[in-house]
This record gives sequence, structure tokens and C-alpha cells, in this order.
Amino acid sequence: MSKEVKDTAEQAAPKRSNQPKTPTLVRGMKDILPSEQGYWRLVEETVRQVAMEYRYEQIETPVLEPAALFNRTIGKETDVLEKEMYTFTDRSNESLALRPEGTAGVARAYLEHGMLNQPQPVKVFYIESFFRHDRPQAGRYRQFFQFGFEAIGDAHPVVDAQIISMTYEVFRRLQVPVNVHMNSLGDKESRAAYEKALLDYYKSHKSELCEDCLRRMQKNPLRLLDCKQTGCRTLAETAPQTVDHLNTESREHFVSVLEYLDELEIPYTLDPRIVRGLDYYSKTAFEFLPVLSEGDDRVIELGGGGRYDGLIEQIGGRATPAVGAACGIERLINRLHEQGVQAQALPDADVFLAQLGDPARKLSIKLFGELSAQGVRVAESLSKDGIKPQLEAANRVNAKYTLILGQKEMMDGTILIRDMENGIQEVVDMQKIVNEVVKRLQRGKSQQLQAADPEVVAKMEEESGVSEAQQKLDL
Ligand code: AMP
Repeated sequence: MSKEVKDTAEQAAPKRSNQPKTPTLVRGMKDILPSEQGYWRLVEETVRQVAMEYRYEQIETPVLEPAALFNRTIGKETDVLEKEMYTFTDRSNESLALRPEGTAGVARAYLEHGMLNQPQPVKVFYIESFFRHDRPQAGRYRQFFQFGFEAIGDAHPVVDAQIISMTYEVFRRLQVPVNVHMNSLGDKESRAAYEKALLDYYKSHKSELCEDCLRRMQKNPLRLLDCKQTGCRTLAETAPQTVDHLNTESREHFVSVLEYLDELEIPYTLDPRIVRGLDYYSKTAFEFLPVLSEGDDRVIELGGGGRYDGLIEQIGGRATPAVGAACGIERLINRLHEQGVQAQALPDADVFLAQLGDPARKLSIKLFGELSAQGVRVAESLSKDGIKPQLEAANRVNAKYTLILGQKEMMDGTILIRDMENGIQEVVDMQKIVNEVVKRLQRGKSQQLQAADPEVVAKMEEESGVSEAQQKLDL
């Protein structure tokens, strides 16, 4: 047995036959471990940054909503509603659902808080988790996270284009190349005309349809295009296309969205198969698919969205146009991994605090707070004794300096500062150590910048009030 395996085996509690089984993850759920957090931070910070630049404010809605909210909005014959929603009756006999998606909750909040009285469109974003009792597989979980943008209260096609553009910008900044697949479902009138054409087509191919699709024909013909069965997929390829059944207004709207995308130089493909999984979409519908290497024919849907002009009315508000997009964060992070992107976990430390003996430990825990209050990134292993393991820990976090507080320094009221790059150690008055550290770090930063661009540094120094002459005197 290797040492590592032996240690682990010894650490594990001995199992008795009557001992309860250790609980494990619920199927379809996952832990997001510390080693993955760098990727999550990267995605979330990018989303927040883009949202802020486009002036979209965050909204957070509850995980639990009345089941009726989704029954009324998502639509009949959709997998999300029929098979995937987690619903239950609570102790007050209310029928509740774990939210399967974000738009309905945002629309409920818009109505409930009278946001229609604010300047329109109301622009919000979210980063939240959703729940679908889906069959777990790669890139498909029962609890998953999405980021999403919603603009409620504006019918102009430029808003559709802006939602697409800001979502595209998130992918661009993360260096995940995507192609936007575009379609239009048209407004109510166009959609009715299209559904009729679709039904006529499928009626003459009834014998080739699977059982699910025969039922879909009655309830929601658009879903026929989504079927994954080989026979139905072949049929879908020659089915009528929505864009051929758009009325003038829907057509003009769609053309206009595409023109804005051209203006923004966002690459898109017209894709008549995009009908989106949920029922509330009208007019513009789009999906974001990653650009994969040649020969890789996977279809990975990173995100999608569209216009949902009828949704607010469906839940009891007055007719309110709206458009939004939502993207799966797990799938995006998978893509970052596939592309070999390295996301940093915790940043390197500026300073490591090493101490010897209990009085020094007490002073160190206080000094830790004083340094971090000045914005210094401090690392420590306060529970450890002995200088060697502490210096090793300092190297692991790539500390620039280690502060060493031993018995002698405690008596003298001093502290040692060790430059980890050249090993030079200096004695500093304990009272002055915070200022000294801050000063050295600032100096290090401007030297780094100077190597890059002297003009920028001169400007920064001017702004911070620290002149080159002052720095020289300090040395
Ligand atoms: P939808 O709300 O179905 O339009 O999904 C939008 C995006 O969320 C998809 O493109 C996926 O990236 C992601 N997504 C949807 N369902 C799941 C799931 N079960 N597990 C992980 N990601 C999901």
C-alpha cells in the first residue's frame, strides 16, 4: 500500500455494520469545488462587467415560485413542464415549483413591483441556479446555473440586437468563439399561419411520426421540429419554415434585427429549426453555438433566447413587449476547459506572515488585519510552528515578502522583512511595518509598469502624488 493510500485509509472512520450510510450527492446535482471557483469567478465577473457597461442592473428572484407561474407561461407539451419541473405541495397546501428557468420569475417581479411605471425598457440581469428533472448526462444537470439578460417594456428590434450583442460580448471576452443562430417565429398571427402549414405538412406524413409527435400534433405542433427521433428529424428537415410565413410586421422586425447584427459585425446563421424549448417566444429566436474544430460535429447549445411579447399578458399584466437571453454557465465553463483556458484560483499573496512562539502569533493575527485593511494580500499559516514549513508555505503562495516575527524581534519591537526573490532580510521597526510594506508594494508595481510603459507610470505617479524623486529618497 502506498503511503498516501495508507494514510487515507487510516483516517477514514472504521465502518460498523449498523452505521448509517454516508449521504452522497443527489443524482444530477454537483458540488462546485474550490479548485473550480477560478472559472466561476471569471465567468461571473465578465457577466457583471458587461451588464454594468450596458446599464443592466441585477435582479434576484426566489428559487421557489407558485407552480402556476410556470404552468401559465412555459406552455403545454414542453418537456420542461411535462417531465422536468420539480413541483410539490408545501405545508400550507400551496403548489410550488423549484424554478426551471429565469424569465417567468423576472416577469412576475416586474408586475408585482410595478416596474411598468419606471422608464422602459427595464433592463436586468441574473446569475442564478435552476432546476430540471432532466436525464443527467454530460453538460446536463438537475441543478444548473444560467446568466441571463432581460429587457422588458420595449418592442423595438434594436433591443433584440442589443441583448444578442451583450451576450455575444460575454463570449467574446471569455474568448469562446460562438456563432449566433437566428430565426423568427413571428407574432401571434404569423405563428398561427405557420402552425397551420406545419400541421398540413405533418398530416401527410402521419405514418412516419413517433408516438410523442402524434400527440404533439394535437397540442403544440412547433414541438414536432424539436423531436430527437431519427425519423422525425428527417421529416423536420423538409418541413415548412417559419420565415416563409411571417406577416409584414414580423418580417420587417426580423430583417431589422439582422441589419443591426450586420452593423455590429456579429456572425450569424439563419437557422429555421430554432423554435426554442419554451412556448412563450414570439418573433426573434436565437441560440449561441460554439465554433468547434473541424470534424467536431457536436451540437452544444451554450445559450439562447428571444422575444416574449405575450408573456406578461399571460400572467395577468397588460400586453408588454420584452426580449431576453439565457446561457448555461456549466456548459460555458466546460468549453473553457476544452479550450485549455487556465483560470486562476486565489491570486498570489503579496506578503506572508511567519511567526515563532505564542506572543508573536498573537501580534501576527492583529498585524494580519492591519495589512489586509490596507489592501495588502496577506497569507499565513498561523497555526504552524517552525520557520521552515512557514517559508515553504510562503513560496507556495508566491509571496513577494515574508514578515518574520521571532522571539528576538518581539523583545526589540521590530520585525524582519525578507524579499523572497533575492533572500535579503532587513530589520524594520514594528510600528512602521504596515507603511513599509505598502510602500514597497507600490514601488514594485510602478517598476513593473515602467518596464512596460514609462509614460503611463509618470502619469500614475503624478496622480498618486508620489514623484520619482520622492521614491529615490525613500531608497
Ligand atoms: P433554456 O432555458 O432551455 O433555453 O436553456 C438555456 C441554456 O441553459 C442552454 O443553452 C444550456 O446551456 C443551459 N441548460 C439548460 N438546461 C440545462 C441543464 N439541464 N443542465 C445544464 N445546463 C442547462
